[in-house]
Amino acid sequence: MKRIAFARIAQETNALSPVPTTLHDFEGSHYLEGDALLAAATDGPEVEGFFKRAELAGFIAAARARKAEIVPVPILSAWASSGGPLTKDCFETLEARIVEQLRAAGPLDGMYFCLHGAMGAQGIADPETRLLRAARSVLGNAPLVVSHDLHGNLTRARVNAADAIIAYQTNPHRDHAKIGRKAGAIVIGTALGELHPQVAWRSLPMILGGGKTIDFLAPMRAVFRRMRDLERTGDALAMSTLMCHPWNDDPALGWSTIAVTDRDAAAADRFADELAEMCWARRHEQPPRFPSASEAIAAARSAKWRRKLGCVTMADASDVVTAGAPGDSTHLLRALLDEGSGMLTYAAVRDPSAVATLWPRGEGDVVAMSIGGTLDPTKSMPLPVRGKVVSKHERRGFGRTVVLAVDHMRIVITEGPSMVMRPSFYTEVGLDPWRADIVIVKNFFPFLMFFLPYNRKTIFVRTRGATDFDAAFELSFDGPMHPRDVVDDWRARDRTRRAVT
Ligand SMILES: [Zn+2]
Repeated sequence: MKRIAFARIAQETNALSPVPTTLHDFEGSHYLEGDALLAAATDGPEVEGFFKRAELAGFIAAARARKAEIVPVPILSAWASSGGPLTKDCFETLEARIVEQLRAAGPLDGMYFCLHGAMGAQGIADPETRLLRAARSVLGNAPLVVSHDLHGNLTRARVNAADAIIAYQTNPHRDHAKIGRKAGAIVIGTALGELHPQVAWRSLPMILGGGKTIDFLAPMRAVFRRMRDLERTGDALAMSTLMCHPWNDDPALGWSTIAVTDRDAAAADRFADELAEMCWARRHEQPPRFPSASEAIAAARSAKWRRKLGCVTMADASDVVTAGAPGDSTHLLRALLDEGSGMLTYAAVRDPSAVATLWPRGEGDVVAMSIGGTLDPTKSMPLPVRGKVVSKHERRGFGRTVVLAVDHMRIVITEGPSMVMRPSFYTEVGLDPWRADIVIVKNFFPFLMFFLPYNRKTIFVRTRGATDFDAAFELSFDGPMHPRDVVDDWRARDRTRRAVT
């Protein structure tokens, strides 16, 4: 019997957010070890409130398919909402726990490690590579296979630290379990001596491109189809294109491709190169430009029938919490209070000090105070409001929450991340999207699936914040970066980054 460990440490970091991610953010959201982890990955829910089955459930399925030969060994699983960089203490605690528990697990024949791929930590370069090296220090030469979100970033050290790296093949992401199963099959096959993974990759000096970057829409559709075809024919074990998280502060940031074949290094190299060329050819198709708050509110007002039949969903694109923004922006709130009268609007803002002020107050109390604009005062200002306390709640992941009625708005003020992606964010506090004219989300893509029953019109709104596409241009890179700078050729940078002569 081969004993294969499995673990997850996942968080997507926005380097522009001044709100650090702490151990509490992991432990208060999703943190499991040992038998509790094995039970969650086997019977679900794997990540309570988010995923019934995700990567680790996929890995368990791969292990079960070979149950006569494989024993899955649970280590730990920690997940936190996107946000600012991990504190040094948080990172080093998680790193130490991985090492300690891998050592305590007894002899191991391999490991599957689920990492986001775009995690940052204060004062630590390329922290996920450090996690891989920490795991490697215990595993020795046993195979180590890694999965990433396709918004992850690859570095030379990262690729060298693992036997194989694979990423999601869907955006919005819906293949978490499938990727875990694929990674599981590779690590299991390698541990059993059936597979001999060969890896090749390419790195592009490009942080934005591919239009909306959706896997089933042009211009990215052909890239995703090519990857699936190479896997279907058996030419490759796994093909991945990572479109990077543009607000990650690794100097070697950029899109990357990675091919994993069985035994055939030349084919891996050819496939990774072909995908890189396909991506580079799509670099000039930029993300769409979004309307201003005033334009968006006017568009919602004119969508009268759509508001009657459901709601207008407005994505606060400058303050997307699921892409790591602080969630405290007041730009859209202020515009909606000024210009959105008569339209019942549900909104969210993260403000721990406002929650602390409101918590002792009773339902029905009228208060005058400021909300929002406190976590990142450089991006938006606190908003003075006069409103009535509607209800108070304690919620896992969001922390203490207060619903405040201000004119035509119901503002959900959270202590923790104001991660509005699913209708349950509002329904759990008694706000029914069927009644609303406008519902604010702080997410880029997945809300489109979750809000489908209610949503009659989607508007992405640009104000000013940590998830503006061009906000990433202020980060420093290892050279010219498309589309901030003119870059004519990707190959020279790719060679430097991969240290190929
Ligand atoms: Zn992603």
